[in-house]
Amino acid sequence: MPQITGKTKLLGIIGDPVEHSLSPVMHNAAIAHLKLDYAYVPFPVKQGDLARAIAGFGAIDLQGFSITIPHKQDIIPLLSEVSDDAVKIGAVNTVWRTESGWKGTNTDIEGFVVPLQTMSRDWTQMTPTVLGNGGAARAVIVGLLNLGCSEVHVVGRNPDKLARFYQSWQHLPTMASQIKIHNWDNLKSLLPATDLLVNTTPVGMSPRIDASPIDPSLMAKLKLNAIAYDLIYTPNPTQFLKLAQEEGATAIDGLEMLVQQGVAALKIWLEQPVPVDIMRNSLKGYLGL
Ligand code: NAP
Repeated sequence: MPQITGKTKLLGIIGDPVEHSLSPVMHNAAIAHLKLDYAYVPFPVKQGDLARAIAGFGAIDLQGFSITIPHKQDIIPLLSEVSDDAVKIGAVNTVWRTESGWKGTNTDIEGFVVPLQTMSRDWTQMTPTVLGNGGAARAVIVGLLNLGCSEVHVVGRNPDKLARFYQSWQHLPTMASQIKIHNWDNLKSLLPATDLLVNTTPVGMSPRIDASPIDPSLMAKLKLNAIAYDLIYTPNPTQFLKLAQEEGATAIDGLEMLVQQGVAALKIWLEQPVPVDIMRNSLKGYLGL
């Protein structure tokens, strides 16, 4: 634990629930390693209390904070500035002080993209398929388009939610034209052309570790030399990644995304390089990986 002094600067995370958050573990490990007089603490904030909490943060000189469920969308009107990427996905997960007020962005995009950037692939030639159309899928889609993919296939199980999801991109016509929506049944024809398969569903998450959003016979249709990326970080690897590896795919698990979204946030708050290995190892130790 960092030493708390009379000058300690505060960072934190707001959400409800917030108890499960891994952010305090990794941010305080980095702060201790850098020997900085900061502390990162959880703030449970109920849905109706968001505006009061933000006003209070202004009064106590909080330096910045992370945001989790249920405030990622509701925080937007309370900020003086929001990054273009966060506007695109309609959710903010990181806020910091500026001279003109609170500014917000969404570091899930960078967190998702960093592990892919370490691979030498021509992303303009890659065909990605995303399983699921919830909150995380939005960051994944923006990340893939930022990487240079010309289109992204999104597969969902609920036609009404899929239609609403598609509609929600229409105020960004260029992006909307790059997002192709499919029912789950279409996977049979999509997988043989898929270079990057991303699981953004919670299927396979601990404790239901034997489940996979794609069964073995369907996974067998995945294109040769594809990349399989699961946003889930426990278990590690997931059944989805194991099945994909059996088909020769390269696997990326969700731990690095978790680490890298935190790295991106801490760099914004501290305005200096941060110890990525320390943050990754703190999470691995905490999760028993
Ligand atoms: P979410 O908003 O609830 O979205 C989940 C999506 O998965 C929805 O489209 C949902 O469809 C679909 N889904 C759920 N069960 C399914 C099933 N049995 N078959 C097919 N589709 C199913 O959740 P989220 O915030 O996007 O998070 C999704 C996952 O990503 C979670 O496991 C989360 O832990 C992980 N995640 C990881 C990171 C990281 O840093 N590694 C970051 C963010 C999220 P319906 O709408 O029809 O239910």
